[in-house]
Amino acid sequence: MSIVFLNDRYMPMEEAKISPMDRGFLFGDGIYEVIPSYDGELVGFAPHIDRMNQGLELIGIDFKWDVNKWREVCEALIEKNGSGNLGIYLHVSRGADSKRFHAYPSDVTPTVYAYAFEIPAANVPDKSKAKAYKVATTEDLRWQRCNIKSTALLGNVMHFQHGHAQGYNETILYNANNEMTEGSACNAYIVKDGVVITPPLDNQILPGITRLMLLDILAKHTDIKVEERVVTMDEVLAADEVWLTSSSKEIAPVIEVDGKPVGSGEIGDVWLAAQTAYTANKTEY
Ligand code: PMP
Repeated sequence: MSIVFLNDRYMPMEEAKISPMDRGFLFGDGIYEVIPSYDGELVGFAPHIDRMNQGLELIGIDFKWDVNKWREVCEALIEKNGSGNLGIYLHVSRGADSKRFHAYPSDVTPTVYAYAFEIPAANVPDKSKAKAYKVATTEDLRWQRCNIKSTALLGNVMHFQHGHAQGYNETILYNANNEMTEGSACNAYIVKDGVVITPPLDNQILPGITRLMLLDILAKHTDIKVEERVVTMDEVLAADEVWLTSSSKEIAPVIEVDGKPVGSGEIGDVWLAAQTAYTANKTEY
């Protein structure tokens, strides 16, 4: 395990070295992606690369590889690290400067790093086999550009730690208006009377690729109704079901929020229908 890619070379992870002057290290000045791969098959590859390119553009890093070059790197990492259930981490930082100065330098070469790590097996649409999540909640105190998948993740790390330290699997965040934003590392949803409701895309949340795929799959392959609208925390507490999505979790059912059961306290039927449709159609993306 652990052959990594750094600046056009493959090498054992222990040999991968970057400059301490890299702006990714000093400022968290970079963009990253995580693409899931199950038994050698990448899921959502094209939309993940699109989002990375958009992120690089948003923060003014002038770097764009042909999508096939990224595919080559992802496939080489899968080949070198043994296929199985892998997350392929891709990271482009602005690069190493000779001084620590906030303004974007014009003459640095971006640092490109990629590696593969094990992720849980893909969910199976079976309530008895699903991992049921228990989550904490806390006010979202991150920055106002959460749509950018920046490597500067300290805000997310601190929010994740808030739940983790209390024995929870995740932390659901809410803004100053008591409206749910997302999880510290995932998008969030409620289900009420059979309708799936999730906050709309704006600067408060990451446009998750699993979210994109799930909403598309639900529209094309099921009768389940979806609303993209503001969700208050009161609605979260009164929901029949709560879900989280991310590339490594797929659709994660939440059965407890701040120690209180969600709905009946059991994994719900709408989750089962949604995960069934997702499992059947995710490789189309
Ligand atoms: N929101 C945040 C804050 C995330 O870090 C992630 C990814 N871990 C997501 C949402 C979900 O994104 P995706 O479905 O693309 O993995």
